[in-house]
Amino acid sequence: MVMANVPRGKYITLLRCGHTAHYDPEPKPGDEVYCRRCGNYTKVKTAHQEYSWHCPVCHTSRPFGADKDAAYAAARRHQRKYHHVVSVRQGYTQVGVVGPEGEQELSVSAERIQWVRQHQGGLRALVDRQIVQGGQSTKDRSKTVT
Ligand SMILES: [Zn+2]
Ligand SMILES: [Zn+2]
Repeated sequence: MVMANVPRGKYITLLRCGHTAHYDPEPKPGDEVYCRRCGNYTKVKTAHQEYSWHCPVCHTSRPFGADKDAAYAAARRHQRKYHHVVSVRQGYTQVGVVGPEGEQELSVSAERIQWVRQHQGGLRALVDRQIVQGGQSTKDRSKTVT
């Protein structure tokens, strides 16, 4: 059960009761969480890492919930207006850059990192088994971002 209910947590979560809330760390679908608006416990329906853009020159950032397109559109507007290079993040992970030449999505997508996180236990078990069977080093252990 996730106890934290941080108003500006990094993870936007849709609850079974129909409300949305921010939690950090991110709960998984099916987790039991406390909904402040209901004043009761409910379960997580879906969880998204929130998209946002950040301008390192202005020290500005804006959150866009699960709306990736809106985050990129706003980043493009900021780039055109101030000619700053703006980064787009999903949760804590930078997933794109918007610069003078346009926008570029980074190769390591947050979905991929999320997938790795969700399956980390299984992946670790696989890696461990490879070590036992093949004497392999841990060099191809999946990279995760915290
Ligand atoms: Zn609720
Ligand atoms: Zn700026």
